[in-house]
Parts: sequence; C-alpha cells; structure tokens
Amino acid sequence: MSSVVVAGIGELVTCDGTGTDGLGARSGAAVVVEDGLVAWIGPQSAAPAADRRVDVGGRAVLPGFVDSHAHLVFAGDRGDEFAARMAGTPYDGGGIGVSVASTRAATDDELRALLAARVAEMRAQGTTTVEVKSGYGLTVEDEVRALRLAREVTQETTFLGAHVVPAEYAADRAAYLDLVTGPMLAAAAPYARWVDVFCEPHSAHAFTAEEARAVLVAGREAGLGLRVHGNQLGPGPGVQLAVELGAASVDHCTYLSGADVDALAAGTTVATLLPGVEFSTRSPYPDAAALLRAGVDIALATDCNPGTCYSSSMPFVIALAVREMGLTPGQAVHAATAGSARSLRRDDVGRLVVGARADLTVLDAPSHVHLSYRAGVPIARALDLRA
Ligand SMILES: [Zn+2]
Repeated sequence: MSSVVVAGIGELVTCDGTGTDGLGARSGAAVVVEDGLVAWIGPQSAAPAADRRVDVGGRAVLPGFVDSHAHLVFAGDRGDEFAARMAGTPYDGGGIGVSVASTRAATDDELRALLAARVAEMRAQGTTTVEVKSGYGLTVEDEVRALRLAREVTQETTFLGAHVVPAEYAADRAAYLDLVTGPMLAAAAPYARWVDVFCEPHSAHAFTAEEARAVLVAGREAGLGLRVHGNQLGPGPGVQLAVELGAASVDHCTYLSGADVDALAAGTTVATLLPGVEFSTRSPYPDAAALLRAGVDIALATDCNPGTCYSSSMPFVIALAVREMGLTPGQAVHAATAGSARSLRRDDVGRLVVGARADLTVLDAPSHVHLSYRAGVPIARALDLRA
C-alpha cells in the first residue's frame, strides 16, 4: 500500500453536496490518497503521515471533470462543414455520414491512435472520466470495433448504432431498425454499458419517437442502461421518452417545453447540457438556471465530435454555461463533476469523499471561479500522483 498527501491546496472543492452550490469548498485542507482512492480529507495541520507529499503551491484542487458525452472514435475532418455552417449553412445531421465513411476506411491502429490522443487531450484539460460512444461505424463489424477500442480507454462505453440511418439503408429504414435492435445490438452489447439513440424528428437522418423507443427497449432487454440524444434541433419527444423509460440521461435539451421541464423535475433522468454544441452550431442556449430552479438534475459535457462540437475542453464548456446558460461558476463546476457522474450513475467519481477515486484536477489559479473568469486560458490539468 502506498500513500500520498496532497498539501498546499489553496481551495479544495469536493462537490460533496455541502456549502454553496453543493461544492463543499474549503481552504487549508489536505487530501490523503491510498492506492488510488481518497483515504482522508481534513485540515492540513491534522493530516496523517503518508509515504509521500505533493505540494500544489496554493492552487485550487477539484474533482476531475466527468465528460459524460463524447464521440471519440472517428477518423477524418469536417472543418469545411464548420466553416460553411458559420457562413450560413444550417445543420441537419447529414454530415455524420461523412465521418462514417472516413471511420470505416481507417485501420484499427489509426483509430486507436486518434482515440488515445483525444483522451490525452482531455486529461491535459482536467478530465479524468470520459464516456465514449460508437456511432460512426453503423455496420455490425464497425460498431463492435468502435466499442472494443473504446473499452481500452474507459468503462463508460455506449452503443450508438442508432446515430443516423446509414445511406445504404435510406430507402429501407425498417431494415436498419431491425439490424440495430437485433444482430448489431447482440454483437455490441458485450462491449457496451449503455445504449443511446439520436431521437430527432427534425432530422431526416435521425430517429422518430417510435423508432427510438424500439432501440431503447431492445437495449434495455440486452442489459444496457439508457441514454438519449433529444430535443437538439427543435422541440421534440426525446426528453419525455427518456423520462418515461427511466433513462439515466437525456442529452442536448436545447429546446424544452414546460411539460419537458416538469417531466424532468418529476423523474430520475439527468438533463445533460452540451453548450459547446450551441456554440458550434450557432444555436440558442437552453436556460440551465431555470432547470435548476425547477429541481432538475443537470450535467455538463462536451459532446466532443467531428461535426457539431470538436472541442474536448470541459473548462470551455463550464465558461459557456456560466456566460450563456445562467449558471454561477460554482453551479457549472458541480454540473461538470458530480452532475455528470450522476448522469453515468456513478458515485465513485465527480466527488472527493473518502472511498471515491482519487481523480484530482488542479488549477493554476486560487479558486474554481477562475475556470470561467479566465475563459480560454489553459489553467486546468489532471493531477498525476504516480511516483
Ligand atoms: Zn452526441
């Protein structure tokens, strides 16, 4: 057993549910880590002896960010599509097919290297847990490959065969639905914890409420937890379907009705907000502060993907949520840690409490407020405690 005491912490944010915004923020604290887990938190002056000491020099320490929505297994580049969108071309989900073609053409080793680089890029910005979806393969073989590679970097893997209807099935959607709820699901399930669906009647490429229900019910029967892409391009059925089926999370929530908010407040489904997508598609931002006032559990994630948000940065997402969605800096940090952990039904990450994973993120700043105050400045990184 090896232990390390993390000392010299300016502000310690634990997200343990106490204090302002549930941040459990305190000064003068130290954290003792044993074998990768938090063993003790308390005043530095009372810290028990440890094998090693790491002094962070007055910096703030937070739970590592939990990025609960990311599409990291893809090849190719869609910078031209982004430029066209900024010049006025609307987004309709059709560009996903471009990434499907490049991803199918890539070798395992090419995809593995791209995935590893993206995970490293996230860690360098303070993210210590990431969910990774398939969805750029859309054949049995290519979806299984994406999940198999994702499993090499995270336990939070999500089968998203129902990302779009691939071009070769455009004339026979029912046949693709049979595949994605049948043989493809059966092959993918051993590599996945979750099933997800792009429920979006406003896109001809995505899935209707009835189709999405079939995907989710089949996934649940295969033993997977449920997640939904919903209400991204306009008002729609995704949120209510997610709540009705007890999904862990419904993601995007860009367009919410009063009934959607009521359903979320009454249910157990977390509303995961992805402000990098509103930024990258020039869409209106949902009112996160109003969701909190209504009693909805919220999370923040990047949706890092080659089309609608090619940013891996949780600090960027936090800054957007503060500036554009009405959250306080503390509420945004909570949503990006404990909130997103909840959307993954995890209580061992996203909080610094005894027994939780010792995933610590350190800021080159004295407090969590600087994440949004110093937007765009690379102040956050995962703390490496290996000797
Ligand atoms: Zn997504």
